[in-house]
Amino acid sequence: MNQASLECRHISLSYGTTPVLRDIDLRIEPGEFFALLGPSGSGKSTLLRLIAGFNQHQSGELLVDGQDISGVPPHLRNIGMVFQNYALWPHMTVWDNVAFGLVERRESRDAMRRKVGAVLDLVGLAQYARRRPAQLSGGQQQRVALARTIVIEPRLLLLDEPLSNLDKQLRVQMREELKNLQRKLGLTTVFVTHDQEEAMTTADRMAVLDKGILQQVGTAAGLYDYPHNRFVAGFVGTAN
Ligand code: ADP
Ligand code: MG
Repeated sequence: MNQASLECRHISLSYGTTPVLRDIDLRIEPGEFFALLGPSGSGKSTLLRLIAGFNQHQSGELLVDGQDISGVPPHLRNIGMVFQNYALWPHMTVWDNVAFGLVERRESRDAMRRKVGAVLDLVGLAQYARRRPAQLSGGQQQRVALARTIVIEPRLLLLDEPLSNLDKQLRVQMREELKNLQRKLGLTTVFVTHDQEEAMTTADRMAVLDKGILQQVGTAAGLYDYPHNRFVAGFVGTAN
């Protein structure tokens, strides 16, 4: 089982002269389902992209299993990321979308068939393998995006608002599915959301981000009962 720890040490990032992440200090344990919670524009996606290697921080260290991966390009990090808009290939079938990362890694036909079959089973999409993304519902597209990411057996799973395109009822169902799948895989997972209820009901622990500053890290109960400041109290308690 792939279970990595993740540590951000004093990470800062600016776009030009605008600071977007300020001195982020955070440790996520192996196998944890960790939510990164904050309002729009607080820097959640920037931090996630930085962990995946698509953004570079100007200072600080980014450690996976104790090793600094700051200079390592995204495709060598073995970190899986599901983007907010899923970013599926519209012209490819479900099967080809899921197999894509394995083709890039030059896996054998047999291994590919076995792995793609297994993850499609896992997310309940085996019978949709020949369809194209446009022929699927939002929830099914979301499952394809997830399948495509876990098929490469990443050591970390990053999810950027994976449920935000779905309607409320499906969102509640999918968050249960996601949590069950995460438990089954045991993958260390960072789940970004602006929805405090989503974070509170799914995550082992969470971090609240505002204006690029980590306001508090803890369990749902810890944040709810002992908020460190007004922002956390408002956001975790009564927001939404
Ligand atoms: P969130 O995901 O929490 O909504 P983001 O990480 O997307 O927030 O954005 C944080 C801040 O950084 C915002 O003020 C946004 O406008 C700014 N930002 C994001 N990406 C870029 C970029 N490529 N260039 C300049 N500013 C950016
Ligand atoms: Mg975002």
